[in-house]
Amino acid sequence: MGKTILVVADVRHQALRQVTYELLGAANQLANGGAVHVVVLGHQVEVPELGAHGADVVWQVDDEALAHYTPASYRKAFLHIYQSVSPQVVLFAHSAIGKDLAPMVAMRLGLGQISDVIHLDASGEKPTFTRPIYAGKALTKVAPKSEPYVLTLRPNNLPPYTGEQKTAQVQNVDITFETPDLITMVQEVIHKATGGVDLTEAKIIVSGGRGVKSAEGFQPLQELADVLGAAVGASRGACDAGYCDYALQIGQTGKVVTPDLYIACGISGAIQHLAGMSNSKVIVAINKDPEAPIFQIADYGIVGDLFEVVPLLTKAFKQA
Ligand code: FAD
Repeated sequence: MGKTILVVADVRHQALRQVTYELLGAANQLANGGAVHVVVLGHQVEVPELGAHGADVVWQVDDEALAHYTPASYRKAFLHIYQSVSPQVVLFAHSAIGKDLAPMVAMRLGLGQISDVIHLDASGEKPTFTRPIYAGKALTKVAPKSEPYVLTLRPNNLPPYTGEQKTAQVQNVDITFETPDLITMVQEVIHKATGGVDLTEAKIIVSGGRGVKSAEGFQPLQELADVLGAAVGASRGACDAGYCDYALQIGQTGKVVTPDLYIACGISGAIQHLAGMSNSKVIVAINKDPEAPIFQIADYGIVGDLFEVVPLLTKAFKQA
């Protein structure tokens, strides 16, 4: 029987992030012919026509109070839409906002939550969800005990919707936000200059560790990234040493990424780093120590000095 699914669009800089389309793909698998609703919370968000991406109903809550994420205002807006839709499953991105909002509303509504899903199987009677555990060392399959339930999906893992074009019905909803909904208010947002490509959505990441040796040492990595259209990431070792900003940190206490290609340069491969990148589809490691643990999970390993290898790669990709 068809189910009603509610997707919470992942919004950044007033636009939908790619993961929103992946959520819609997953929602259609779970809906099994039922209705897929998507809610867009924000202010002056550019919302494309979402019928082509698998939405049956688009709920738009546009308000200045939602211009920046704050837990109380987003919770209020979400709960309002949730009551109108009464879904069996709610899907959030496993992003900064999703990781904060999903458990908060699940707790409010008394729902179970399955977090950081990287694969789903909706072919059986009950869907099962695969998620990493023990900092990515193992995977576990989980099935929900009851409905409704909440899911958070890791970006870059599930395919977007490729089914027939739908005609999405758009509902604009006005909500009044008052002082208790605005316990915290964002006064100013200072964007760090971390390059053009969003790390968590990047298809290719060139990442540097302590082996890069200095802030200037990141320059050859940036040049390779520019040629590949990649984002630059880093180990905590590199961040702690002051070679780059913590916004670039990948790992257990940094960002979790799943690119198609991860190029680790001068990174030893500590378990805390692997927790953030071991699900990358192809891993290339460049390290001058042949015993470096990163080689144990790398698909391709280059034993050598990164300052020689990386410029050679850049040159080769430029010619390709
Ligand atoms: P190192 O371990 O010092 O490795 C540097 C590597 O560079 C070496 O393998 C060396 O052979 C190689 N090298 C040196 N020069 C060259 C060269 N010229 N060419 C090629 N290779 C070269 N770490 C994270 O990354 N992310 C996290 O989120 C994170 N969270 C943590 C949380 C906790 C609670 C703790 C305790 C630690 C955490 N760490 C995290 C730190 C982690 O344990 C490691 O210390 C860190 O990942 C090491 O960074 P690194 O690989 O860059 O440095």
